[in-house]
Amino acid sequence: ATGTGDDPREVATHCPYCALQCGMTLRAEAGRVTVAARQFPTNRGGLCQKGWTAAELLDHPERLTTPLLRDRPGGELRPASWAEALDRVVTGIRAVQTGHGRDAVAVFGGGGLTNEKAYALGRFARVALRTRHIDYNGRFCMSSAAAAGMRAFGVDRGLPFPLSDLGRADTLLLVGANPAETMPPLVRWLTEQRERGGNLIVVDPRVTATARHADLHLQPLPGTDLAVANALLHVALTEGWVDREYVAGRTTGFDAVRRGVAGWWPARAEALSGVPVADIEATARALGTAERAIILTARGAEQHAKGVDTVTGFVNLALALGLPGRPGSGYGCLTGQGNGQGGREHGQKADQLPGYRRIDDPVAREHVAGVWGVPAEELPGPGVPAYQLLDSLGTAGGPKALLVFGSNPVVSAPRAARVEGRLRDLDLLVVADFLLSETAALADVVLPTAQWAEEDGTMTNLEGRVLRRRALREPPPGVRTDLAVLADLTHQLQGGAPSYRLVHRKGPLLTPKQEHGATPEHGAGAVDAADPRVVFAELRRASAGGVADYAGVSWERIDENDGVFWPCPDTDGPDTPRLFADRFGTPDGRARFHAVEHRPAAEEVCAAYPLHFTTGRVLAQYQSGTQTRRVAALRRVAPEAFVELHPDLAGRLGVAEGEPVRVVSRRGDMVAPARLSPGIRPDTVFAPFHWGGAARANSVTNDAVDPVSGMPEFKICAVRVEKVTEP
Ligand code: SF4
Repeated sequence: ATGTGDDPREVATHCPYCALQCGMTLRAEAGRVTVAARQFPTNRGGLCQKGWTAAELLDHPERLTTPLLRDRPGGELRPASWAEALDRVVTGIRAVQTGHGRDAVAVFGGGGLTNEKAYALGRFARVALRTRHIDYNGRFCMSSAAAAGMRAFGVDRGLPFPLSDLGRADTLLLVGANPAETMPPLVRWLTEQRERGGNLIVVDPRVTATARHADLHLQPLPGTDLAVANALLHVALTEGWVDREYVAGRTTGFDAVRRGVAGWWPARAEALSGVPVADIEATARALGTAERAIILTARGAEQHAKGVDTVTGFVNLALALGLPGRPGSGYGCLTGQGNGQGGREHGQKADQLPGYRRIDDPVAREHVAGVWGVPAEELPGPGVPAYQLLDSLGTAGGPKALLVFGSNPVVSAPRAARVEGRLRDLDLLVVADFLLSETAALADVVLPTAQWAEEDGTMTNLEGRVLRRRALREPPPGVRTDLAVLADLTHQLQGGAPSYRLVHRKGPLLTPKQEHGATPEHGAGAVDAADPRVVFAELRRASAGGVADYAGVSWERIDENDGVFWPCPDTDGPDTPRLFADRFGTPDGRARFHAVEHRPAAEEVCAAYPLHFTTGRVLAQYQSGTQTRRVAALRRVAPEAFVELHPDLAGRLGVAEGEPVRVVSRRGDMVAPARLSPGIRPDTVFAPFHWGGAARANSVTNDAVDPVSGMPEFKICAVRVEKVTEP
């Protein structure tokens, strides 16, 4: 069903939140939308509490249904018409670009945008604005694993195998991953794996809900995962568990890695990380002697200034053991955001064109420019990664205007108070969102956009499986889709009249020629550039021949097959659930080892800041909390932020459970109630990052970034904790 028929209506779609993209059925009846879990290969009928309550936001009283404008700096936002709001955006963009050049306007996207939106946003930046400045919040999420995957395998797909492989692994090593809280239905696969007699080993500085399930929990000091990885490979080498035939036949560069890990005796890793030698040896044995083994990393390993090298350490281990490409074995990254995978493939990254192509590759530029109907030499070059972009806003030589789609950097960026100041310095801040996020509250123009149940499109989940998001209903009056906003802005910037019209999806919109990827004629009236089918048809053509090749993926094929795994270059050919069976994505088909060395965190503890600070998520909240903090049922479960402390540390500070504490770093502070837990190291404190205001964890975090991926070091900085004594 498309949701455009008579009441009651029902549609099979997917959860709007995380990368598991659980299957759900939405039903509209008597003015109410309800959610039901449905059988889908990733969730097998399960949903977490975020999924069950997702429909609550559709008719939420705080939902934005009219554009908002701020007439002067410091003034209040006031309701406005779409015509006035879009005119203000276009006038502002023109003024900034006339005064400061094309790169003075920047675009910031999100890993929750559909593939169509991510693609359209990249095209909008490069063609309509002709700015090099576009990046997105996925830079804060999985960019280190993406960069490590590209340099090792020549392909970045979170899981290069179906999720069901997790249940088949004899040993499963989770590094910095807490799926029991971040994507609970995935735990079914872990349960299945353990019921088959498999070993689950978790590496995490905290006793998380996932670590409690584990057969073995390694609890390293934050920032020392790479030392553990190198020690594991050291043990595998000395014990003879390295698959020498695989290494010789399918990889390059092992000798340098072998020399590099030679000095990583387990005792040396224990001295740095605190992980006992016996646990390092037991982990290496469990991996090295297993018939099938999988190593997964997530944000705990990745969100460091050495995140790419840390992931590479675990990739090296997986390659040395001969795991990638074998059924039930391999290396993967648990992508976080709903379209964390697709969002990083279609050109909203600073250095990227659609199809996961490099923007500095002349062949890629020719191909994409041809699809877009512009000369390749007119396409801008690479921009800068997200934090660098945000930190340059409003500065001399930096962008003076920013358009934000699907992101809330005031809460989610590192060193957030500084980023907030940069946003305030802009000549023009435009935010498209359906709720007044902390970032939208600072904007000069707020554009109310549709929610997931009101739009068609595609998402690509953590397995590289392209899925269909299906609309249950039209957006409410006064609300437009992001694609409609981009289409209108494009028309107006190019001197045309507003083009927006609501598209009712009752019949095929594409001619056979269009379905095979013809570029729509803007303004010709034949197709609507705001229609996701039209955008997807063009995306397929733009991605053809790239790393993430969608040329053979059609919406109909997705409907028939529970999704389609990329690469899928031919309409009549197979998709690719499992990568690397015969060759990797490098020019010679071999995976690349890279020797990587542990180095200290960008900021080390000292007398003034003696504790390690690390951040993460809780089950009932999602990302910057813009959505989940407004859901009553989730607010009841997780009403406020907290600071997790070991009881010994709390005792030294004279802090009792629930008393407010202040966490102070060199960059700022946060205040939240103390939560005492023996499951955290006494030298480390933890806070979730879902809240803004005084409880904003990212006021504290460090803005040091990984030199390769641009990933900020969210997972470790130096702090002190103070008992809050003033009333
Ligand atoms: Fe939604 Fe993720 Fe929860 Fe599934 S696990 S219901 S996709 S938030």
